[in-house]
Amino acid sequence: MKIKENNNKIETALTKICKREISQCSYEELYTALLEIVEEESKKHAAPVKGRKLYYISAEFLIGKLLSNNLINLGLYDDVKVCLETHGRSMAELEETEPEPSLGNGGLGRLAACFLDSLATLNLPGDGIGLRYHCGLFHQKFTNQLQRETPDFWLGGDEWAKRTEKTYTVSLAGKDYKARLYQLAVTGYEGRTNYLNLFDLDTIDDSVIREGISFDKTDIEKNLTLFLYPDDSDEAGRLLRIYQQYLMVSAGAQMILEECMERGSSLHDLDKYAAIQINDTHPSMVIPELIRLLCEKGITFEEAAEIVTKVCAYTNHTILAEALEKWPKYYLDTVVPQLVPIIEKLDAMVRERTQDGSTAIIDDYKTVHMAHMDIHFTHSTNGVAALHTEILKNSELNHFYRLYPERFNNKTNGITFRRWLLKCNPELTELIESLIGPEFKKDASKLEGLLAFTEDEAVLEKVAKLKRDNKEALAQWLFHTQNIAVNPESMFLIQSKRLHEYKRQQLNLLYLIHQYFEIKAGHMPKAPITAIFGAKAAPAYTIAKDIIHALLALSRVIGDDPEVSRWMQVVFIENYNVTAAEKMIPACDLSEQISLASKEASGTGNMKFMLNGALTLGTLDGANVEIAEAVGEDNIYIFGQSSSQVIRRYSNGDYCAREWYEVDSNIRRAINFLTGEEMLSHGTKENLERLKNELINKDWFQTLPDFNAYVVRKNQAIADYAQNPMDWARRTLINISKAGYFSSDRTIEEYNKDIWHLGEA
Ligand SMILES: *Cc1c(COP(=O)(O)O)cnc(C)c1O
Repeated sequence: MKIKENNNKIETALTKICKREISQCSYEELYTALLEIVEEESKKHAAPVKGRKLYYISAEFLIGKLLSNNLINLGLYDDVKVCLETHGRSMAELEETEPEPSLGNGGLGRLAACFLDSLATLNLPGDGIGLRYHCGLFHQKFTNQLQRETPDFWLGGDEWAKRTEKTYTVSLAGKDYKARLYQLAVTGYEGRTNYLNLFDLDTIDDSVIREGISFDKTDIEKNLTLFLYPDDSDEAGRLLRIYQQYLMVSAGAQMILEECMERGSSLHDLDKYAAIQINDTHPSMVIPELIRLLCEKGITFEEAAEIVTKVCAYTNHTILAEALEKWPKYYLDTVVPQLVPIIEKLDAMVRERTQDGSTAIIDDYKTVHMAHMDIHFTHSTNGVAALHTEILKNSELNHFYRLYPERFNNKTNGITFRRWLLKCNPELTELIESLIGPEFKKDASKLEGLLAFTEDEAVLEKVAKLKRDNKEALAQWLFHTQNIAVNPESMFLIQSKRLHEYKRQQLNLLYLIHQYFEIKAGHMPKAPITAIFGAKAAPAYTIAKDIIHALLALSRVIGDDPEVSRWMQVVFIENYNVTAAEKMIPACDLSEQISLASKEASGTGNMKFMLNGALTLGTLDGANVEIAEAVGEDNIYIFGQSSSQVIRRYSNGDYCAREWYEVDSNIRRAINFLTGEEMLSHGTKENLERLKNELINKDWFQTLPDFNAYVVRKNQAIADYAQNPMDWARRTLINISKAGYFSSDRTIEEYNKDIWHLGEA
């Protein structure tokens, strides 16, 4: 009865907006109309804020397409789907019309998006603050087995982020610019509506883009928000990143103060009104900027520094040195001269607090360390998985930990189950609901109820059948969108994540070459396998692009060889993004989480795969450690060196890749193949040789010591999959039932309890 009523309501609303019958409307018209309906509906859930409100500042928000997700959260999805189907239209085709917002890069941005969903779902007041990039990171294309970057034009047409009349003046290199606020409604699942606030300049002009994604980096007025992470291999690019960061934090800080004052704050009591989470170091300048603004309003420097420390908290996302941003002070002199005296005063305060020069904000080389400023002038520094936080405390940030032990805490990452289960895998959602009821949608720990069915053959068969259907759907999508044919009867092994040497796609590559030789020698794998990759490489990251090249060339070598391709296929999916992830993850049998132990802070891809019934093949790194604890060692495939072994190797400086290459004939055979005849018939000598040399002479992320263990574990997983499908299904069900801990609802509840205290005064 309810469905029927709502169905009629949707139908009436749609025909009213489109001004004609649903069956006569184009998908674009229907999409626009639904956007309007969602907007109206989400406004109804925007509640006034009492007490403390969160501002989550982040350079990235990898939010994914929004229509279906918003409809699910607002409880309208089924009604809309039925209504469309009644008129011969398909929800899936409608979804195709929506461009995916290009506001993020990888895990860090996706985490921010999951957090916004959980905040709204838990009825917590919390907005995002970021930038409105016109062309995002880039759109990835493969030509001649090489990555090519083109602008990802996703704006234009009807958009979720609405232009507002609010602007804030931001001074960049001594000149004033107007930052305009755009607002995107974030719906909660049966919860409140919050907002993602995105800043932009009106003067951006994409005609400055030349070939690929290159452009005049100095023309700030026209280029400021064109791209996320503009190439920083030259100075103009690095300055541009500072320009972007300051636009975001200055406009954001002004907005925060304005809102809090409107709500009655005297600013002396700002911490009763606002909590600010600094997501990695990109927004760190919000600290001196807030101090600057507070001083302008008549507050003393010392008090301003105290207020800011009480309001702000910092999340560290990585222990890779490259990501702990530091800038030459003269960059800041150029772009944000107004902040420099403030940062110098903060540095002086730190030097009063401690003799330990290693924690200074400005070092002896006049380099400004953003993370140091964050730790000294926020009340909380958190890592993103238990192991990562321990490494921060005990090695990377040990000097800071000894200064402020009470400030360090762990918040293991999570993912929103609304997108990564309800939205991307409705069939599994339905099966789970039929077994344990609907409570798991808001209380993920309820998934443990599935443990009652691990010996129930009928259920296990359903689980296996569902996976098979999802593999078929991925195969069809691949064929339809990229003209790639894969065999859904084969085992799907997926490694999808940013391309980085620490994530070790090159280890997977060496395994696949090894298998190629084994098959050639008549040693077939226990099941036919399809190795599926998805990854973008940073445009200036040469070796990462060489790894993509090698995988694409290998894919061709195997494709040309019917003897091998019957047993093994290598597929690299173009332009990996949230839309692709939603298709790939439900179809995965084995999830590859093979980073060098100690280097992956948490990972969230690992959680999505687990939740969708894949088993994990991984190192004891990041949240893999906690996944292994949750499911038990029989239900995960762990291999490789431990993080302490790796850390010891680095500190001794005694790793020599060449020794491994010379001693181990399998390793040598696989590496030599990179520049052999077969690969050169599809690949480019320069790229393949560079990769080969890197592996033999450097291998900074210690691929070779883990090679043999990886081969053994992976072959074990393939054999288990092939030889005992019911047991495999049972173990996937155990993984699903133990995934509840990795819900971002749990993560957000912890942040709120320990750091934010939202809604309290
Ligand atoms: C989850 C996700 C990531 C993060 O994956 P990791 O394996 O944790 O690095 C990156 N990109 C997209 C599109 C994602 O959905």
